Amino acid sequence: MKTIRVNLSDNSYNIYIDEGLLEKIGDTLVKEKTPCKTLLITDKNIEKVYGSIVSESLLRNKFDVRLVSLTPGEEQKTLETAFILYDACFDHKLDRNSLIVALGGGVVGDISGFVAATFMRGIPFIQIPTSLLAQVDSSIGGKVAVNHPKGKNMIGSFYQPRAVFIDTDTLATLPATELVAGLVEVIKYGVIKDAELFEFIEKSLYDILQLNHDALLKIIATSCQIKANVVEEDEKEKHLRAILNYGHTIGHAIETVTNYKKYRHGEAVAIGMLYAARIAIDMGLTDNTVFERQLSLIKRLGLPLQTGLKPEEIVKTLYADKKVISGRLRFILPTQIGEVIISDQVTEEILHRILNKPL
Ligand code: ADP
Ligand code: ZN
Repeated sequence: MKTIRVNLSDNSYNIYIDEGLLEKIGDTLVKEKTPCKTLLITDKNIEKVYGSIVSESLLRNKFDVRLVSLTPGEEQKTLETAFILYDACFDHKLDRNSLIVALGGGVVGDISGFVAATFMRGIPFIQIPTSLLAQVDSSIGGKVAVNHPKGKNMIGSFYQPRAVFIDTDTLATLPATELVAGLVEVIKYGVIKDAELFEFIEKSLYDILQLNHDALLKIIATSCQIKANVVEEDEKEKHLRAILNYGHTIGHAIETVTNYKKYRHGEAVAIGMLYAARIAIDMGLTDNTVFERQLSLIKRLGLPLQTGLKPEEIVKTLYADKKVISGRLRFILPTQIGEVIISDQVTEEILHRILNKPL
């Protein structure tokens, strides 16, 4: 088992990564938390494969578990669903020492964390992420939220879990398209912070896609460590944490314009990373290899490259984004593989030039 510590003074916690962790979840958890009333939140896809393994392991260790299963999908991440979960909390008589367990992908993690953060002003919760995206990104760092008709993740908070348990075996049932979309965030970590991780993905892509345990452990643990380090330095995204948004500025715009229906998050981010690299080249910050190496990996993953969207539409959406500060866009731009800068020097003219050129 690999353990990564996230140091956030009073809110510090461990991320445990291993195979076969789900069966032992109760035994591991009981070392950190006295058995208590527990609401296990998952979605219907995940319940089918892992619901009983997790609830039985918790029950064996005297956790009084009630399972609630949501309809899968981002559309469920609403205040209405949160309300149903609050009802379940009351119904199962949870109090401030109880526990919420999030078993699932990013959707389950975000909404469970949101309910944990707000029920009785905050009760303990743990994350058991089952999608690669959730394992390397959304389960760590304490961003919890639900969506609002005016925008994704607009109602939320920073609320850290008590622990994160990552069982690499769960990826065996994850649809391949979801795995590949999650890998984009891993590639992102390579570009922003770790040239060696990037090279490892280039060399070991086959093993990763075959779900070789050592390869998975390496990419997941390295990604978690990078995210932990960034969050430790800047928990509330005042500055440094923004580097995690590499590829996300244009990525989000693409998701917004297409109503979050055409692309998975990782697919939109992959396109966003390539455009960000192009911008960096255009501004003389880096050379072509930074773009070419990312392009080559993204092509090998079979990810879409063309959006068919009008550049004007993307630019308009970019300026409407919540991250625009005093009319200037903030971009994360690579200077080499493993290093990025935060820039507010990207002009509308550069954007039009870049977006008009096919990838
Ligand atoms: P993400 O994790 O990408 O933020 P979701 O929470 O919507 O987004 O998860 C993506 C999809 O994958 C959902 O349909 C979810 O039910 C499914 N899923 C997540 N983890 C697994 C898994 N380990 N096995 C099978 N399906 C999974
Ligand atoms: Zn992302």
